Amino acid sequence: MAGKGTILLIEDEETIRDFIAASLRAQGYKTVCAGGAREGMELAASLCPDLILLDLGLPDRDGSEVIQSVRKWSMLPILVISARSQEKEKVQALDLGADDYITKPFGISELMARIRTALRHGTIASGTNPAVEVFQVGDLTLDFRKRLVKAAGTEVHLTQVEYKIVAFLARNAGRVMTYAAIISHVWGPYMDDNNRILRVNMANIRRKLEKNPAEPRYIFTEIGVGYRMAEEE
Ligand code: CA
Repeated sequence: MAGKGTILLIEDEETIRDFIAASLRAQGYKTVCAGGAREGMELAASLCPDLILLDLGLPDRDGSEVIQSVRKWSMLPILVISARSQEKEKVQALDLGADDYITKPFGISELMARIRTALRHGTIASGTNPAVEVFQVGDLTLDFRKRLVKAAGTEVHLTQVEYKIVAFLARNAGRVMTYAAIISHVWGPYMDDNNRILRVNMANIRRKLEKNPAEPRYIFTEIGVGYRMAEEE
């Protein structure tokens, strides 16, 4: 059971914590639990886990403080567990440096998929994986070297801005990217709040890429938070 990595689970609700921990262990992850923010930060520093699974609502301090504290010394993946309809908290957590979030209640298979994605991006960030040159999901293909996009075998012509958005989402496939992160990547950090222009571009992108733009298969909307590119399992 060795080699899958160590996960630090910070969650104050005992029944949820025990259930998640048992599921993680059954999947072969070494799992260490903390019931509060302070204990979680201490364990994070002493264990250097491969991933942190973090509940935002903790009794002693806010989960966002854990993110800030960890980000001072490590880029290890942080996956946030949040309650429904906490868009503001999710966006704040992501902008503070969390990698992704999962909304309660969630299924174990969804949680495992998010963990695999976060761990994979963690490996890429630390430079042990060569940069991917081609991205593929379903019948959508992106060749980053040639800047070529194909849907169902046909080349799709994207504007430069559209390509930048799609490539950024594809490079981070499986993870939600906040509006602010996309805008900063495409237009630079000094662009003011530009959600409207991003939405217009996204509508054009979907018309070009998706068979049915109203029911996207490739780029999903995370309402109030951002967009997520689908990823091949
Ligand atoms: Ca809680």
